[in-house]
Amino acid sequence: MYDTAIIGAGINGVSVAYELMQKGQRVILFDMNGIASGGSGAAGAFISPKFSKGGELKEIIDKAFVYSMKFYEENFPHIFTKVNLIHTAQDDSEEFTIDAGLVNASAMCHALAKGVKLIASDVKSLVYDDTSWNINETYTAKNVVLATGAYAPVIHKPYIQMRGIWGHRIDVKTSTQNKNALHKFVSISPSKDGVLSIGATHNVHYHPQSSTEPYDVDAGRKELLDKASKSINLENVEVIKDYTGLRSGSLDYMPLVGSLVMSKVTLASTHINFKVKKADYEAYDYYPNLYMINGSGGYGFVLAPYLAKILVEHILSAKKISDRISPARFFHRYAKKL
Ligand SMILES: Cc1cc2nc3c(=O)[nH]c(=O)nc-3n(C[C@H](O)[C@H](O)[C@H](O)COP(=O)(O)OP(=O)(O)OC[C@H]3O[C@@H](n4cnc5c(N)ncnc54)[C@H](O)[C@@H]3O)c2cc1C
Repeated sequence: MYDTAIIGAGINGVSVAYELMQKGQRVILFDMNGIASGGSGAAGAFISPKFSKGGELKEIIDKAFVYSMKFYEENFPHIFTKVNLIHTAQDDSEEFTIDAGLVNASAMCHALAKGVKLIASDVKSLVYDDTSWNINETYTAKNVVLATGAYAPVIHKPYIQMRGIWGHRIDVKTSTQNKNALHKFVSISPSKDGVLSIGATHNVHYHPQSSTEPYDVDAGRKELLDKASKSINLENVEVIKDYTGLRSGSLDYMPLVGSLVMSKVTLASTHINFKVKKADYEAYDYYPNLYMINGSGGYGFVLAPYLAKILVEHILSAKKISDRISPARFFHRYAKKL
């Protein structure tokens, strides 16, 4: 029996695995397509703050930015690079230059998962039997963490809806030297050995599990190169590699970290008034030892180390998770409308 089973080996799942392993837990990790095979493998992956005026999303991303820059630099300096990032508003009204970071997305996910038992399989069944979770009728674990991104959920809850946005990144060989990371219509990395990356998540129509037509890679490449040409003039361009994946966002753009409410049991409770503006989430019934980490939008690599620390402190020490990132907020909205 494992202490914790994690479903999904993207940056969120492997960051939780890493934190738990640091605390001496026995961890088992499942992914239907392998480490960094979802949105995480396609990411840029820039470590930057949020370029907007204010708000709670900016607040959490900015805190996570400070935390994760230090985390990556201290623990994985060989796959983390400090970069000068120039962010330009699409209408050219503003331009900021900041000290940011860049990680090798796939290598970082593999490094974080080092030493964890990995099972390459699609988790289809998750059953609780009084003391532990049974996964695919084969493995048992005390805790389960769902880190499945925007893919079909293992446990479907009507109050949780994740939005998947399809992204595409290309590595291109070019004779143009680019010194800085550039963010405008697309993200462009600095060049290394004559190669740079161009990436964006902008396709809301394509989903790998529900679209009937395959993704048009050539059209995607053309769009990325057209958009990149608005920031930089690239010469002698040859696309040498494509990476694609879904990034997952929540309906209020804030991440989702914490326990899952058992909706039927909670709704049947006679002592909870669901129509109140500010709910008491502690009154709800939760699945035992079942947690999720999801909804990082375009900031998965910025948020993951910070959110994984919050989740692990909650799992191991019952430290409270802020109501603003608790999945219970969506249950409250759902219950209020019934
Ligand atoms: C083109 C692109 C560029 C991006 N650029 C940046 C960037 O510069 N900086 C940044 O911070 N973020 C960036 N992002 C966003 C970032 O990649 C995501 O926020 C992050 O990858 C989300 O990680 P995740 O672990 O939640 O999901 P994912 O990486 O999608 O991982 C989910 C995993 O769960 C697995 N899975 C799902 N269901 C099951 C099941 N039933 N059984 C087994 N396995 C299952 C999937 O195979 C998948 O590997 C970018 C994304 C894209 C696509």
